[in-house]
Amino acid sequence: MNTGITKKLKLSTEREKALKSFQKARKLQDANDLGYVKCISCGAIIHVSEADGGHFIPRQFKATELEPSNVNAQCRKCNRFEAGNQIGYRKGLIEKYGEAEEKRLENLHDAARGSEEAYNSLPEEDKALIYSKRTAQYYHSEYLKWNKVCNQLAERERI
Ligand SMILES: [Zn+2]
Repeated sequence: MNTGITKKLKLSTEREKALKSFQKARKLQDANDLGYVKCISCGAIIHVSEADGGHFIPRQFKATELEPSNVNAQCRKCNRFEAGNQIGYRKGLIEKYGEAEEKRLENLHDAARGSEEAYNSLPEEDKALIYSKRTAQYYHSEYLKWNKVCNQLAERERI
């Protein structure tokens, strides 16, 4: 319904909201029926309430910021005190998604940092991730989408 009032969305606020709910949704998606997750980096089994949604490629890179394989449940020790435990993360990522997906994320990262070789190796739909202009409206709809996932999964947790 058009109320005639268009709320002006602020890009940085909407991006933050989208990334936050995405991170939360990703760790909830990793949880088993009892609410436990396995740290992607060290394999520790912890309750989802004590886990972070940890990034493989840092979140400042927009090309991978909302890629599901790039954000996984991680223990706080690895995420906060061991700088993401990147060696373990890479290993865990390959185990979980396969080498091709790990390579894809690396290529997106390198392409975002200006590597022409990495860019050229990307399929067309991934090339769009490098240059697409992300608007406040885009982030707002991502926020709504991932927030809905969070609510559905949080409900399951209570059963
Ligand atoms: Zn860990």
